[in-house]
Amino acid sequence: MSKQHFEVIVVGAGFAGLYLAHKLTTQGRTLRVLEQGSDVGGTWYWNRYPGARCDAESLAYSFSFSSELEQTWHWSERYAQQPEILSYARHVADQFQLRPLIQFNTQVTSAIWQELPCHWVIETALGERFTADFCVMATGCLSVPQRPDIPGLETFAGNFYQASQWPHEPVGFEAERVGIIGTGSSGIQAIPVIAASAAHLTVFQRTPNFSVPANNYELDPDWVSEFKQHYPAHRANHRAGNGSGFGDLDILPRSGPVDPVIFNELSEPAATALLEAAWQRGGARFMAVINDTLMNLEANQFVQAFVHKKIRSLVKDPVTAAALCPTTHPIGTRRICVDINYYETYNQDHVRLVNLRETPLVEITPKGIALDKEHIELDTLVIATGFDAMTGALRNMNIQGVGGLALEDAWHAGPRTYLGLMSVGFPNLFMVTGPGSPSVLSNMLVSIEQHVDWIVNCLTKMRADNHRMIRAEEAAQDQWMAHVQMVAEATLFPQGGSWYLGANVPGKPRIFMPYAAGVGAYREACEAVVAKGYRGFEFA
Ligand code: NAP
Repeated sequence: MSKQHFEVIVVGAGFAGLYLAHKLTTQGRTLRVLEQGSDVGGTWYWNRYPGARCDAESLAYSFSFSSELEQTWHWSERYAQQPEILSYARHVADQFQLRPLIQFNTQVTSAIWQELPCHWVIETALGERFTADFCVMATGCLSVPQRPDIPGLETFAGNFYQASQWPHEPVGFEAERVGIIGTGSSGIQAIPVIAASAAHLTVFQRTPNFSVPANNYELDPDWVSEFKQHYPAHRANHRAGNGSGFGDLDILPRSGPVDPVIFNELSEPAATALLEAAWQRGGARFMAVINDTLMNLEANQFVQAFVHKKIRSLVKDPVTAAALCPTTHPIGTRRICVDINYYETYNQDHVRLVNLRETPLVEITPKGIALDKEHIELDTLVIATGFDAMTGALRNMNIQGVGGLALEDAWHAGPRTYLGLMSVGFPNLFMVTGPGSPSVLSNMLVSIEQHVDWIVNCLTKMRADNHRMIRAEEAAQDQWMAHVQMVAEATLFPQGGSWYLGANVPGKPRIFMPYAAGVGAYREACEAVVAKGYRGFEFA
């Protein structure tokens, strides 16, 4: 068993791992990035299903740390497709000479803290062993696919694909009878694209989700260069405020700031007009035009009714339209989907929606799917059934902290962190966009950059002060967790029954995992901790 020592081991070479590698190298640290895939890109490496694209605008969902990078990289569409985002990640890796720091095809199987030498011992599936003063988990929030517990799933004899583990080779659906299970963001993106080439498509829907149109288009180069002249101001705007890291400016040609409006201050026609304008502009910002949509049930129900009406106007068959109207959760408490022609797809004769709430799925057979009164034959089955989100990758990795404490056990009742950056009992182990930080409720690039900057600055301080160990204090963690829950309870999020709460994974503790007060408030909290001498952290 070979053994190599680094100051920092980073797990994961997605956007977080790439920025960490860049930042740590510029600080003269020795490091190694261990990546399970055969290339960089993380979520954009794995999620290559048909129609995969980001539902955040390209010009915002990109790194801000290098002015040269943001000025020279060319985004072609308002919402970039997966291949373009993956090319961007590869470009970053090449441009900043990060590849020599990354070991690909390397799955970490354990990370064990050793108190006396004061380091982490990291082992891989290849039988390698590394030691590191610090370990940074850049393992992503949506990186462990969730396979549904449907009887007979393994017996299906046709072509079988999981959205988040899509093959690298081209997949065609011509002349095939395709079935898809899952109508979250992934399914809603894949369905129109699969329908475009399949002979027949059956969508098996258990819970409908709210989706808003993307209004995607190719970016106008003149408008982009104008936008890029003001990039620093846009980035500053994204980082501030109590929103999700996209600022208060619509990233659209000729549009100005979006003023926050409270529902009760609006007449009904004014509220409808605001929603209509946002629907036409497209994108997830639809959720932000009435400022208290996620706080005020009455406001939320008004927005729900608006979208229901839209669905009924877009889908010709009233039974299908009714089945597509979500009624089990307030809008936005499950991640809002952003689509291109999703609802319209159901107007095609070869596309059928099966409402599993009315005709339950009994089992998957070698030839298709058995419902209670019907067997639907399929050549191909696609599942887009989501992820063991936010904690899956960390809990599966056999992380053991002080006295052999397993992270799995420390988090048995749900994840516990201080600021989403560290967890008590696990010294010198940082998380990027961990539970307890804005994370999946935010523009991930904004949150990744903020966390990486915080962590690297912390390591710099430790070096200056000749400290070898940092750990989170229990009281600080308890206080932070209570605050995270208090903020969540002030919103409608807990009513969503979503993966934010772990509700999609049988047996997973139900606790609202991300911090819902917005990226600006969170950044201020992190900066205040630093200003007060890293309050809540202990150094040795
Ligand atoms: P998801 O939102 O968790 O959706 C999973 C779907 O599978 C749900 O419709 C769920 O139905 C269904 N499902 C699960 N088990 C089932 C079963 N046994 N029988 C029938 N249906 C079942 O997962 P996702 O679509 O992969 O999206 C996850 C997150 O990834 C998104 O919320 C988003 O944050 C991110 N994402 C982003 C983009 C983007 O940027 N464009 C694209 C894709 C994903 P139930 O609701 O009834 O459980």
